[in-house]
Amino acid sequence: MITLPVSPIFGHAYEKVGADCIARWHRLLGEEVFFLTGTDEHGSKIQRKAEVAGKKPKEYVDEMVVFFKQLCEKLDISNDYFIRTTDKEHEEVVRGMLQNLHEKGFVFKAPYKGLYCVDCETFYTEKDLVEGKCPTHKKPCETVEEESYFFKMSAFQEKLLEYYEKNKGFVKPEKKRNEMLNRLKGGLRDLSVSRRNVPWGVSLPFDEDLTAFVWLDALINYLSGVGYPASKNFKKFWPADMHLIGVDICFHHSVIWPAFLMALGVDLPKTVFCHGFINTKSGDKMSKSSGTVIDPIKLAEDYSTDALRYFLLREIPFGQDGNFSEEALKQRLNNELANELGNLVNRALVMIEKKAGGKIPAAKTDAALQKKLNLKKIEELMQKFELHHTLAEIFSFVTACNQFINEKEPWNLKGKDLDAVLYSLADSIRVISILIQPFMPGTSEKINAQLGVKPGLLKDCKFNLLKEGTKVKKGEILFKKVD
Ligand SMILES: [Zn+2]
Repeated sequence: MITLPVSPIFGHAYEKVGADCIARWHRLLGEEVFFLTGTDEHGSKIQRKAEVAGKKPKEYVDEMVVFFKQLCEKLDISNDYFIRTTDKEHEEVVRGMLQNLHEKGFVFKAPYKGLYCVDCETFYTEKDLVEGKCPTHKKPCETVEEESYFFKMSAFQEKLLEYYEKNKGFVKPEKKRNEMLNRLKGGLRDLSVSRRNVPWGVSLPFDEDLTAFVWLDALINYLSGVGYPASKNFKKFWPADMHLIGVDICFHHSVIWPAFLMALGVDLPKTVFCHGFINTKSGDKMSKSSGTVIDPIKLAEDYSTDALRYFLLREIPFGQDGNFSEEALKQRLNNELANELGNLVNRALVMIEKKAGGKIPAAKTDAALQKKLNLKKIEELMQKFELHHTLAEIFSFVTACNQFINEKEPWNLKGKDLDAVLYSLADSIRVISILIQPFMPGTSEKINAQLGVKPGLLKDCKFNLLKEGTKVKKGEILFKKVD
């Protein structure tokens, strides 16, 4: 779930690319995947931002959605559906669920006074605040006092603790899981789920003057987006294997959301994975509310979509905070993409065109070279969501292929010896092209076109599957170096 920000924000690009990589990896395994992203469009934060911009909220969010869809396209994001929380179907699901919870007695009315951070759209107690300010945004909270409907979250503390105990992989990384466990052990308060003065929201079916707490509305997207309660997709794909979110909204996803689902009798997602924040060199956190620092669309235009995707997935340890600098992006583009991968493909295809008439010769891939690819390790790393290590492992094979050329010196070879080297290279590049597909889909496609092969699945990452006589066609170089 992506929360709608005010401007093009780098952290969202990162989140989408990470989710896309994981979704594509599972498709590569031959699984059917439903990849959902979208925008959270209600609540007082949006309402105020629209006012400041001199726009109606709907007009404001419509414009933001155009931007987000552009961002997805620019980053080659393969989402199966894009949900907006202002979609009528979604709003109906929210109302139906609230009605259900109200009838079951899990939603009840009581007076309420609390400290509210508009940026988080969340209530805090005095002890949650840091120097009297929101712990995430470091901004003062507002005192909000009103009669409110509450969700009986306190009733789910024990059940949640039990669930965490039985499902050790429910919240990842481990550090976040422990943090959530500690908060759970400290006890849960009932949660205010209605707002009186926020007309920009979904009205409560049992009290139409009030709107639903925006987080409740937003979280339900995971169900409405996959067609809850009756669609085929819902039956096929729920419970979700993974929610990929930022660390700042972990509590909402790993405590509030599962408590709602338990109350509704709906299965919980299998994993809530928290990715980190990206810091710029100056150390500013580029999260959703701090403003634009770097424009991902411009970066994709300047350096190519795949160079940006590669950088984000390679540089930042998935699940931890990381750094962004344009200088580091340039270095990885020049050294790893242009010099290693681009160069390998280019050298191999030039030789096949020159020395083998542009056709894959009959041979087998060098046994020693085959051993340089550790497919098992790659699969294990992906299973652990160590995307950065996966890429490093794939690229160690790219390096091995370049070394293979230098050692064999094919320019001094002829006949069967030459054929063996050329075949080994082309076959290895085919395997590399499959493995990089989730990370750099556009580059994988270009390599396939040059090699004259169809896109493969992970099961095709075996050597010697490349057919003799396949016609290759060297194309443009894959990555241009930058200064
Ligand atoms: Zn806040």
